[in-house]
Amino acid sequence: MAKLSANMKSRTATAVREIYRPIIRGYFAVFAAYYLVLMPVNFMFYKGMDLVAIVATASLSILIALFGIWYLRKPAPLIRLEQLLAVLNVLVVANVVIALNIAFAPEKLTYFVIMVMLFALASVSTRQSVFSIFIATSGFLTYVPRLNSGDLVTYGFLVFGAVAASVSIAYYLRKAIIRIADAKLDAESELKEAQTVSESLRHKSLSDSLTGLPNRRAFFEALRKGISLISRARDQNNMESPVYNDSLWLILVDLDGFKAVNDVHGHLVGDLLLKEVAERLKAHCDGSAHVSRMGGDEFNIILSSPCDEPQIKAWCDRLLETLAKSYVIEGRYIRVSGSIGCKMMDLEQGARSQINEADYALMAAKKQGKNRCVVFSGAHARQAAERYQVEQALRFADLEQEIELLFQPQVNLRDNQIVRAEALARWTSPMVGEIEPSHFIKVAEESGLITDITLTVVGKAFSAMHEWADPVPIAINLSSHDVITDPIIDQIITMVEEFELNPSLIEFEVTETAMMADLDKATANLKRLTQKGFTIALDDFGTGYSNFSYLRRLPIEKLKVDRSFLENAGDPMTEKVLFSLAGMARTLGVQCLLEGIESEIDLLMAKRVGADAVQGFLFGKPMNAADLKAFLVDTSRPEPSANAIA
Ligand code: C2E
Ligand code: MG
Ligand code: MG
Repeated sequence: MAKLSANMKSRTATAVREIYRPIIRGYFAVFAAYYLVLMPVNFMFYKGMDLVAIVATASLSILIALFGIWYLRKPAPLIRLEQLLAVLNVLVVANVVIALNIAFAPEKLTYFVIMVMLFALASVSTRQSVFSIFIATSGFLTYVPRLNSGDLVTYGFLVFGAVAASVSIAYYLRKAIIRIADAKLDAESELKEAQTVSESLRHKSLSDSLTGLPNRRAFFEALRKGISLISRARDQNNMESPVYNDSLWLILVDLDGFKAVNDVHGHLVGDLLLKEVAERLKAHCDGSAHVSRMGGDEFNIILSSPCDEPQIKAWCDRLLETLAKSYVIEGRYIRVSGSIGCKMMDLEQGARSQINEADYALMAAKKQGKNRCVVFSGAHARQAAERYQVEQALRFADLEQEIELLFQPQVNLRDNQIVRAEALARWTSPMVGEIEPSHFIKVAEESGLITDITLTVVGKAFSAMHEWADPVPIAINLSSHDVITDPIIDQIITMVEEFELNPSLIEFEVTETAMMADLDKATANLKRLTQKGFTIALDDFGTGYSNFSYLRRLPIEKLKVDRSFLENAGDPMTEKVLFSLAGMARTLGVQCLLEGIESEIDLLMAKRVGADAVQGFLFGKPMNAADLKAFLVDTSRPEPSANAIA
């Protein structure tokens, strides 16, 4: 506490000294000017030794005053200020004393009155003002014996009054200056505090709290700076600039399998993993690139470098190798990999669209099997443009008018009967024409437009069933977003009630990947549907995780084995794989349906592996509702021919 107050005192003294510095310099300047002006006058009035004495003290005073002006151009210790003032004041008194000794006149004693007041007002400390007043009054007192009683009273009171007035004025003046100094200090410290707070807020607002890396905002700032730095160097043709020959590379990194780490090991381990990933990214960039975390498991790198595409790919491949090395977190070995999408920034093009392009390359890297780097190319640009066109057409589509439903029968292998029809959406856009279902469904899923399609399809399927006197059981596809969105499930339940349909006639097909977006939520929503009487089939089975432990938790009644397994029907392995997939369905106690039955050989294989039902072009391509009705009446169904069996 004592240390603190001593510290504050010394800070106040410094501030006081700083307030006085210009005043004292002005004081010196006035004396220097005064004695310079008086110099020629001295030569007119004095001669001989008198002249020497008066010129010597005046010159000394000028020198001291000029030295003081020069010395105080910078902050100086208080003691130096006091010493300089004391020397000058003594010289001023000496000047007056010499002048009086040469030619005494009582009126000249008023000089002492002026000196007392000036010395007191221009004192930097109490001790200095006491000293200065003391020498001025001592000077006066040496002339007292020469005064008559009338002059003594007059000048005595004058000097006494001057001392009293100047001491009190100097006291209050110094008090006021100390207050100003304190206020200045307070203001400065508040300003400093505000600057520190705003600096820390700025730092916080630009950094990611988990990893300490720059965040999304900082990324955009860094990208803007990077673009303008290279652009400026090129615009000014500044070949000396270190970035003149650089390209600006945008590198988006996304972890593969991070969600599973969170699900299996918990969020704490997930967080620690992200921190470790951030460290590896920083180490790989080694200060030569801007690394930021955009959120979740997404990291962005901005690299300004003269590297060409193959060099960047090699750099990214090395980064992927680093990321794929195992992590030891809380004693557990964890492995994840990364996918990278790169784009060389075109400095003339908008940043936003190029970030989307890098993102497109990242998506391509994921689709190509993850743990790889894809650089955005012309082909990607064409695909992206096409995708954008589809997305725009979807946004403005009148789905009620433009979506048509086709139905593809599913056949039970035990009695060859049609047991269900899968509703498949067809979209003909007036803007783009007919678009492949898998394509527009994907675009709709990625752009958040799938809900409208799902509800249109559900509405149309329910309305078709409602019109059929003897409704055919229907299967409807749900997307990932649908299964994890409560209001969509609510709406489906409401719709089935409105159409007065029996929910047991309706099956929803969901894919494993759709479930993985949020397994708990998806499971809960599927349970809500099964509780209402709907049934659930797992679509595209075999292409995803196909993991027993989670399949057992799902309320599914059917596995629909993906048709890709039948693409190599001639391969002996195909039958073995199909056999094990059908076996999995048996173990789980659910039905097994084989998709993509195009030939009698496929059908025979389906029977041999023990599938319960099939679906495919051999029985019927997706058809409209009227054709489906006619198809149901026709009971002749394909059977494996003798050739196929042979
Ligand atoms: P999916 O649900 O697996 O549907 C089966 C797809 O396989 C359909 O393609 C069908 O026409 C095709 N298919 C059936 N049998 C055969 C065959 O023997 N050979 C061949 N080569 N193909 C066969 P489609 O109609 O083009 O649909 C593709 C995918 O689009 C669907 O796969 C489904 O994932 C999605 N989809 C279609 N309609 C909807 C919908 O209304 N909602 C949602 N969310 N997805 C839908
Ligand atoms: Mg399906
Ligand atoms: Mg399927």
